[in-house]
Amino acid sequence: MAVMKFGGTSVGTARAMQQAISIVVRQAGEGAPLVVLSACSGITNTLLKIADASGRGSLEEALELVGEVRRHHLGLVGELVPEGAGREAVTLRIEELLGRLELLVKGVEIVGELTERSRDMFCSFGELLSTTVFAAAMQALGHRAEWVDVRKVMITDERFGFARPVISRCKANTDAVIRPLLEAGTTVVTQGYIGATEDGRTTTLGRGGSDLSAALFGAWLHSSQIQIWTDVDGVMTCDPRVVPDARSIRVMTFSEAAELAYLGAKVLHPDTIAPAVEKNIPVLVLNTWHPDAKGTLITNDPERLSGMSYGGLVKSIAVKKGQSIINVRSNRMLGRPGFMNELFDVFARYRLSVEMISTSEVSVSVTVEDAPFSEELLGELGEFGQVDIEHGVATVSVVGDNLRMSKGVAGRIFGALAGVNLRMISQGASEINVGFVVGEQDVPTAVNGLHREFFSGEDAAGIFEVPAGKP
Ligand code: ADP
Ligand code: ASP
Ligand code: MG
Repeated sequence: MAVMKFGGTSVGTARAMQQAISIVVRQAGEGAPLVVLSACSGITNTLLKIADASGRGSLEEALELVGEVRRHHLGLVGELVPEGAGREAVTLRIEELLGRLELLVKGVEIVGELTERSRDMFCSFGELLSTTVFAAAMQALGHRAEWVDVRKVMITDERFGFARPVISRCKANTDAVIRPLLEAGTTVVTQGYIGATEDGRTTTLGRGGSDLSAALFGAWLHSSQIQIWTDVDGVMTCDPRVVPDARSIRVMTFSEAAELAYLGAKVLHPDTIAPAVEKNIPVLVLNTWHPDAKGTLITNDPERLSGMSYGGLVKSIAVKKGQSIINVRSNRMLGRPGFMNELFDVFARYRLSVEMISTSEVSVSVTVEDAPFSEELLGELGEFGQVDIEHGVATVSVVGDNLRMSKGVAGRIFGALAGVNLRMISQGASEINVGFVVGEQDVPTAVNGLHREFFSGEDAAGIFEVPAGKP
């Protein structure tokens, strides 16, 4: 039995939904799958705009945007669910959801305050709507499919916006609600990304969290595979939007995939890998538009990996834009125990997540998500020494299990980066990545240079493939 997750672009239009349904139906031949869906592409962003507009009291703007959401989903229904095949029922269900969304808009507008809790409530409508249309479209085609409200299964803690599952509850619910349907041969269609607290308040797992939902269900159901269907041919040697020549990676280890995801490759949510590793379930990243292309297999199975070992060092290059460097320079650091502890305590209190770190005897540089930093924060940091901030930088990381035992890799990296102004350098303790920071404007030069250095050789044939549909 497989868990199949389809991302926003894979369910964003009627044509995409039809394509995804044909993929699900083909899989159902080998046993009914659990289908986990994202919201239609762009809808979560629209819902966030609706939330903000409601919080600001811009009722008209919020309701206008709700109108857009309504038109989009009713448009899908018009194309996918014929009259006499359930159109009336699904239209009613969508209107019911939109009615609740409008109530929420008005409630937040009256209170005049948008909380994390209500923001999650707003965001949940994207997945509730996409799955409602998808299940109805499958049923209209005569397939056995049932819509399940994931909030009855995915019970989470109360960290709104970044909720995590209460595993014992979720496992029991999965066995009680989802497993019997699958065993009876019914495809289950449910929402990624969202959940609910024990007392029934809606939560979300964080942006891009549908991948995580799918991986969790894969582990709880002991599924044979976790399939992540998206808009590119699997995990690639770099984001194809940055490097047009990026290749698909045929197979990679769980640690490589996790590292890459944490370092910014948006194709997988960083937490997807952990549940799969725990139960050793292979993860396949596949392209909805090229369903027969091989995509990427993520596994620790030595047999699957052995045929694919190659002499190259680097598996992939990850880029994370929208970062800034905070540099603190101080003579007081020298030989003073506790300095770092106190400094990082400031970052923790201001809820800044530190990504990359580089230190010398007299200075500490860190990267954090770019934002206008408050005077209070700068004041507190100023007590440690001189503070310099550089906005608009990107981290670039070179990832590969073989880096660990390779000599000369740094030389090749820096050779490929000649002419690029490197703002920071750091090697991960795991030794499977080398990272550095450049100005955002230098990303294309830096990354394309590295890509040429590491992926143009013939030694990579069979491991890296030209994506399907490219000459
Ligand atoms: P989905 O909506 O299916 O979850 P996402 O937009 O979250 O899709 O992730 C897919 C996108 O990730 C691709 O369109 C691509 O631009 C980007 N991406 C970044 N790094 C990589 C990489 N190394 N391999 C493949 N895609 C990547
Ligand atoms: N719809 C959510 C988002 O856009 C979750 C997801 O797509 O994984 O972040
Ligand atoms: Mg995604």
